Amino acid sequence: MIAADEAAFRFVAGRPSVDFTGTLGKRWRNPPVERTPDPAALGRWFAEAGLTDRPVAVTTTALRQAYPLREALYRLMRVPVFGERPTTADLKLVNDWAARALPALALRADLTARLVEPTAEELLALLARDGVDLLGSPHADRLRECSSETCTLLYLDTSRAGSRRWCSMDVCGSRDKMSRYRRRVAAAED
Ligand SMILES: [Zn+2]
Repeated sequence: MIAADEAAFRFVAGRPSVDFTGTLGKRWRNPPVERTPDPAALGRWFAEAGLTDRPVAVTTTALRQAYPLREALYRLMRVPVFGERPTTADLKLVNDWAARALPALALRADLTARLVEPTAEELLALLARDGVDLLGSPHADRLRECSSETCTLLYLDTSRAGSRRWCSMDVCGSRDKMSRYRRRVAAAED
């Protein structure tokens, strides 16, 4: 049974393609926390990620395609973080998705842009394109894995010094501070 707070979507990365990899959480666990276990959950994720105004209809087929794309993006994003080598299979999968049709864009009256009724497949293509754009740019050097031992989220460190340690100060940062405090208290009592 997955706790509700663990199943909640996390938007900490600063890029949709990186946040997308976080829909599989606590990757050290067996099994990890699947935050998009069904098509409706992925539809909600698209909306909460700000890609659509309302949840998108996602088919079971689209969900089944989303998982391998997500995992290929995740492994490619590990490359700059951990100095791993990309596999041809992952490159091909992400490149194939990135080459597909993207959602149409339109301007609202307030001159903000919106995607025009995108399909789930178009949104997956958009995530792949975002991942390619990021990984092929100097920003890839700012990809990090959260320093918390129990979190495996990737994020983009946009701090000037490049010294951000946690996916989120509110969650992992404060948890880390609390456990260090408890260790200090326990050590003082010994
Ligand atoms: Zn974290």
